[in-house]
Amino acid sequence: MPITFSSPVTVMRGVGESRAASLAALGIFTVGDLLRHYPRGYQCRGDVRTVADVTERIQAGGGELPVSMILTVSVEPSYRVIRRGMSVLRFRAFDETGVCEITYFNQSFLKNVFHTGGTFRFFGHAVLEGRTLKLSSPIYEPILPGRVLPAIVPVYRLAAGLSQKILAGLISDALAALSVQMEESLPTDVMERHSLCTLSYALRSIHAPEDAESLLRARRRLVFEEYFSLGLTVATANAQSTAETSVRMEKTALEPLLLLLPYALTGAQERAVREIAEDLAGGKRMNRLLLGDVGSGKTVVAALAAYIAAKNGYQCAIMAPTEILASQHARELTPLLAACGVRCILLTGSLSASQKKKLHAEIENGADVVIGTHALISAGVTFPRLGLVNEDEQHRFGVAQRSALAEKGDGVHLLTMSATPIPRSLSLVAYGGLAVSRLDELPPGRQKVDTFVVDESYRARLNEFIRKQVAEGHQVYIVCPSVEENPEGKGKKTEDAEELADLFWSEDAETISEKPPLKAAVEYAEKLQREIFPELSISFVHGKMKTAQKDSAMRAFCNGEVDILVSTTVIEVGVNVPNATLMIVENAERFGLAQLHQLRGRVGRGKAKSYCVLVSDAKGETARRRLNVLRRSNDGFAIAGEDLALRGPGEFIGGGGAVRQHGANLLPIPAGSGDFALLGEAMEEAKSLLAQDPLLLESDHAPLRAAVDAMREKLSTTMN
Ligand code: ADP
Ligand code: MG
Repeated sequence: MPITFSSPVTVMRGVGESRAASLAALGIFTVGDLLRHYPRGYQCRGDVRTVADVTERIQAGGGELPVSMILTVSVEPSYRVIRRGMSVLRFRAFDETGVCEITYFNQSFLKNVFHTGGTFRFFGHAVLEGRTLKLSSPIYEPILPGRVLPAIVPVYRLAAGLSQKILAGLISDALAALSVQMEESLPTDVMERHSLCTLSYALRSIHAPEDAESLLRARRRLVFEEYFSLGLTVATANAQSTAETSVRMEKTALEPLLLLLPYALTGAQERAVREIAEDLAGGKRMNRLLLGDVGSGKTVVAALAAYIAAKNGYQCAIMAPTEILASQHARELTPLLAACGVRCILLTGSLSASQKKKLHAEIENGADVVIGTHALISAGVTFPRLGLVNEDEQHRFGVAQRSALAEKGDGVHLLTMSATPIPRSLSLVAYGGLAVSRLDELPPGRQKVDTFVVDESYRARLNEFIRKQVAEGHQVYIVCPSVEENPEGKGKKTEDAEELADLFWSEDAETISEKPPLKAAVEYAEKLQREIFPELSISFVHGKMKTAQKDSAMRAFCNGEVDILVSTTVIEVGVNVPNATLMIVENAERFGLAQLHQLRGRVGRGKAKSYCVLVSDAKGETARRRLNVLRRSNDGFAIAGEDLALRGPGEFIGGGGAVRQHGANLLPIPAGSGDFALLGEAMEEAKSLLAQDPLLLESDHAPLRAAVDAMREKLSTTMN
């Protein structure tokens, strides 16, 4: 039997049951999976330095990267057992410029590898002790006549029982076995139009690149392919889900509610309401996204949709991601809806068992609108006549998923609301081709929030500014990166390091530059109170607090009893306190631009002039440039577009929302900024292909159908 992509890994030499189990832990079951296990980075071992050169670099303070040196062993290694379970092998090796001391721990078998006169390429971290250059446990490769060592060496994600060598060996065997008859998965005309290399070349070069250029060509093809199948997947998924029939809701006169509002709807709001009403009356299951920048007025649109459902005798469930938001919605919507005869209740996880029981009974008796958190999904809650589900600020990505809440009834309509601004070119991937209503017009009279980017040297002036705002009767938010993000001061990679690690990975990229100290909410609030603003009322909220505490802190702020609220990003979405006029974000470089824009949207909600100050000591060029995007623009969509151009779409697709929270990465190859254009091209191709063959039934498209199935599987496992 010839080996194919779908052959189980066990057909390969050296793969028995236990090795197969190790591979399975990496999601590798078939030979194809093995070849699609792309390196997570590369070591550039081809850049060989001399002992003198390395010594000089370290003396000049540039010793943080691993280096390659070709050295010859000068004397037989000394081997010593220091104590039980600890042995050292030590020897000296030289090149024409000097000598280096090399040490290995607990690897006694190396006695038989290193002999006087043997020449090796060593790759590792060199240190200078006194005047001696030392390498500890470097990677070694013998220099043998007739064999060329690769300049670029892949580094794989591993699982127990596997080493880089074993995995690389298996992959190289698989490439050898398959290279003759590798089936191309992309249509030829698509490959030609975008100058993409063949699958066979791409797989060979991604694992064993001859040089940087072939690696980039390979990567470009594989990234394109990934985006292309992603586009096909989401578009076909949506074609299926919207075909389902559902409850029908008659168009309803909305004046009773509209007349209660202190303002007229904006044109965009009117359009959205009309689109929703048509969906609800259409007999097909609605799956619509209401997309509007912060402050664009999504809540009232949700209220109108709920009103239509209630007047048709159906229940509406409104789910928010946090208790703070759910309670705020309830406060806003309950009186409004009650005034036109619609009964609203609030169900959250922090209620007592008996309170919950009472509310469950009310829902079972047909309460019109039920607002709540995830508690709404719990098994104890049954809706006899659920007709509409509304999910607020669910940052959903990828395939349009059927919501668990919408499963509580038959043919339930789904309205999702989000302020995550995603440029139009990306909506196909980001929203899975959902129907989208855009609120692209802010209510009249909104003012621009003036934004500043400052560093620590502005601290004193900033404190004065806070005092001034409070003296004028306003309130201030201070947001710090969340506590759990930074357990022992070892944080995420910094911008610059990330750039460096983009393609050529090295362990050091993660530790290169000093990170500014983080301010955790509680400590920071206490310090401010004690040392800076003893006369002001300061409070804090963070994600780890009990809900009741959190709510009471939020309520105190809403009621104006607190001058400064220090918080983590729990306030990011939806919180509405019009009297707050100053938003300060500490360690701003740690936040995504879209997130910062959301945070800034917490101020400028009242009549008074509002400000946003982004505090950052990050020195990196990219960090600065990113923050300055916010200073220049107040338009969420423009900001998202610039963020994409700067960082590449990986953040949005591979790492966005649900996917990022589970630490999984969809795109196995680190995304670079050039990918944005590629994504757009792939989406266009996906769209035009589906226009000809919507369900990919043509025989030529069989490999694509398989890719779509695989992608769907991958999305559903990473997103649940
Ligand atoms: P978001 O889209 O961020 O959820 P909200 O629904 O919270 O925005 O609305 C923000 C503020 O704008 C609220 O105070 C709301 O009362 C007000 N608002 C909504 N629509 C209008 C409108 N058409 N005219 C004036 N104010 C409006
Ligand atoms: Mg909102």
